[in-house]
Amino acid sequence: DDLEKLNGEESSTKLLKSDGQEMGGAWPGQAFSLQVKKVLFHEKSKFQDVLVFESTTYGNVLVLDGIIQATERDEFSYQEMLAHLPMFAHPDPKRVLIIGGGDGGILREVLKHETVEKVTMCEIDEMVIDVAKKFLPGMSSGFSHPKLDLFCGDGFEFLKNHKDEFDVIITDSSDPVGPAESLFGQSYYELLRDALKEDGILSSQGESVWLHLPLIAHLVAFNRKIFPRVDYAQSIVSTYPSGSMGYLICAKSANRDVTQPARHPTDTQTFRFYNSEVHKAAFILPQFVKNALN
Ligand code: SAM
Repeated sequence: DDLEKLNGEESSTKLLKSDGQEMGGAWPGQAFSLQVKKVLFHEKSKFQDVLVFESTTYGNVLVLDGIIQATERDEFSYQEMLAHLPMFAHPDPKRVLIIGGGDGGILREVLKHETVEKVTMCEIDEMVIDVAKKFLPGMSSGFSHPKLDLFCGDGFEFLKNHKDEFDVIITDSSDPVGPAESLFGQSYYELLRDALKEDGILSSQGESVWLHLPLIAHLVAFNRKIFPRVDYAQSIVSTYPSGSMGYLICAKSANRDVTQPARHPTDTQTFRFYNSEVHKAAFILPQFVKNALN
């Protein structure tokens, strides 16, 4: 009931308000740390603090506003789930939109699907793309792909001019503090619905059930008013807080069961994390999460 009373726009940020930083207030009482071998890049962009360092055990690491976004060692676990849950749930994804995703990992995964004719990407911060090209080559290889249409700007504003256009939309955003704040409100999801085609599917970075359950319950609750199918999946990512990451998946058609893959990996596609069994298992939730979401 309390969640019902909250205004869809403001409450997402209230439910995860913090001053950022792994060692600060983002997740009170706990912190995750990696040993730094060498700082490779550290500057403030127009939008955020951008840091890349070489770690002793996780390869190069991208950090935005003090929060780890991706490490070379475990990034595949996040990128493959966020990209392939909606991509394999769709029978024929041709037009795909990525909001955020500046490190390029989601783009790399989307391009593994031969059905894709065009990938549009809208990332707010050009500096993230530039450092990814320089220091995260394994993630950023797709930026030179001919199927890519790249825009630098705010994803929320971008969506206002796109209706009925995409089969799949993937929001690979940072947390709802800083530039990604607008990507967690109800009106953002209404724009996503309008930008999707009739049988479209979206996936969004869905935070951690150990740390952000009220925020997740809120996202699920308001999306149930927008989409006929709203599902939540979770899996492991070792360098995200509490080692877990959730994925919010919504479908515009009531008949589309996203918990079941509509297609399966082919012999020419290579994955390190995703397979059809992992897809189905990710939607099986522990009881405390089911209670919170229902
Ligand atoms: N999922 C990762 C995590 O939470 O650790 C985040 C990956 S990072 C690539 C997220 C990207 O979203 C950043 O490059 C950031 O610049 C971008 N971003 C944040 N707010 C945005 C907005 N309003 N529009 C478009 N891109 C945005």
